[in-house]
Formats: sequence, structure tokens, C-alpha cells
Amino acid sequence: MPEHNLAAAVTWRSISVGSGAASATVPLTVGTVGGGGKVALVAAGVHGDEGPWGALAISKLLARVRADRLLGTLRVLPVANPLAMQQNARCAPLDQLDLNRCFPGNPDGSHTEMLADTITRRALDGADLVIDLHGGGSWAVNAFAFRFAGSEPIAAAIGAPLIVDHGYRDLGQVSLTTQAKARGAQVGAVERGGHSQEEGEWALRIAQGVERALVHAGVLAPDAGLPAAPASIHVQPPRVLRPKQGGIFHPAVGAQAVGTVVPEGTLLGELRHPVTNETLEVFTAPFGHTALMLLRPMLCVLEAGAMTYVVAEADI
Ligand SMILES: [Zn+2]
Repeated sequence: MPEHNLAAAVTWRSISVGSGAASATVPLTVGTVGGGGKVALVAAGVHGDEGPWGALAISKLLARVRADRLLGTLRVLPVANPLAMQQNARCAPLDQLDLNRCFPGNPDGSHTEMLADTITRRALDGADLVIDLHGGGSWAVNAFAFRFAGSEPIAAAIGAPLIVDHGYRDLGQVSLTTQAKARGAQVGAVERGGHSQEEGEWALRIAQGVERALVHAGVLAPDAGLPAAPASIHVQPPRVLRPKQGGIFHPAVGAQAVGTVVPEGTLLGELRHPVTNETLEVFTAPFGHTALMLLRPMLCVLEAGAMTYVVAEADI
């Protein structure tokens, strides 16, 4: 680990955000290193159940990069939604609002709206590059990045196994990245991680992708030790596969399959009756070249309509 790395140079500031009666406020912690030049924000944990992998990637990035490579300013936000992280839930329990639908926030709103406002003012404002790290979470693994119009080189630099154009979703400007894009920043959004044996390796890959994006944006100087971006497979707008009824999910493909492409008809998993083990529904790959963007790698309980797979036709 380099001695004079970003981790040694970063300044952490905790900003109080109004919360519940037990603690009055919760700290939102923003790290800053460098000053002037191009400004980048790397955020993780906007969804509280997706956080540890992105936060780990930020930690690996700060440990790996020498401070003398810094050309601009790097801001990091490893735990963007502290109360949601505490609950291992997508949203904070106080108001159950999706932080990634609350930007630019409201200083006179509820907890999550105040949190969005704080992030906007104290981390997002003035950023030339914003990268938002999400993951499959405690219940799934995923392996893709969104490609935004005008930020194509950022998606390429990230080098996720799969890339999908963000344009098929119409989120307005209420997500962190769409708000940043509306403010003129280059943006990248990563959906990679989740509970598995691979999570350390995935965090390293995310960190390398973010580092390449920071080099592209002029925040970091290039480094010969940084691997080139792996080629990504571009995919069509995705389809979510959901069960029509509740039951026990039995996977047929594991975590290693996420980010790969499988032939049409490949058995992905089954929904079985919790008492009789009778097969209720079967999930198979729906496209000729089915890209596995998100999957559930473990036996689990499912309710009707639960997101079980995210798949897309791969452009190969
Ligand atoms: Zn998310």
C-alpha cells in the first residue's frame, strides 16, 4: 500500500442531517482530497442495502492511488444513506422515501429530502464528474453499468461486464446521476456487487473502473499500473423476470454467471412450493443471447412480483 496515498491525505467531514427522536441527527460523512482543478464525486450506498461493495471499492481506491497523482479534487461519499444502511434496506425507515428519487432535495422536507439537499449542496455542487455506485445488495448480485448520453467514455472506462444505455429510463432529474447530468457533469452509474464469494474481487474491479474514469476526467494523472478497461458487452433495454406467486426460489446459476451471456432456454432457476417442493414456476433465458444483468444466486423466499432476474438481449 503506498505510504502517501489518497487515504492518508483525505479530510473527512461529518455533516448533521435531521433524523429521529433517539439521535436528533445522523452524520453524513464526506471525504475530500485535493483542491482546485476538475472536481469528481464518487458516491456509494444511496440505497442502503447496496452499500458495502461500493464503500469497499472507494476504500480500495483511496488506498491504491498515490496522492501525487491528484490533479484536481476528489470527493467521496461512502455511506450516502446512513439510516438505510443501518436497516440494510433500500430506504431510510423514517420516511421510506427512495433517496435516488429525491434530488435535488428539500431543506424543509422529511429526512431523506433533507439528506438529498445536503448531498446536493455539500458534495454534488460544482462536480465535473459524478459516479454513483450501486450493487445487487443483500439479495442479489449484478454486473452492469449505465451509459449516459454525453458520458460514453466514462461508461467505457468503468469497464463493467455489461453496459446498457440509460435513455430507456425516464427518471427526470431526481436521481443523483440525472441531477448531476442536468448540472452539466459527466456521469457514470455502476450496478455491481452483492453477497457472494466474489465480492472482494468485484470491489477491486469497481475501484479500478472508477480510477480510470477519474483519469479520463482529469482528476487523476494516468498510472502505468492501472489495467486497461475490460471490453464491455452492450445490451438492449432490460427485462425484469418476476414470479406470479410466492414461494421458495431455487437458483440454477450461481454468482459466477452474473455478467455473462447464455443461450435462450437456459434454466436460470425455479420457484417451488415451500411445503411440497413442487415446481411452481421456471425461469429460463428469454433471448437468443441473454445477458444476465442481475440474478439471485442463493436459495431464498420470494413474494409474487419480486425482482428475480434482470436480463437483456446482448448485442453480440
Ligand atoms: Zn440502487
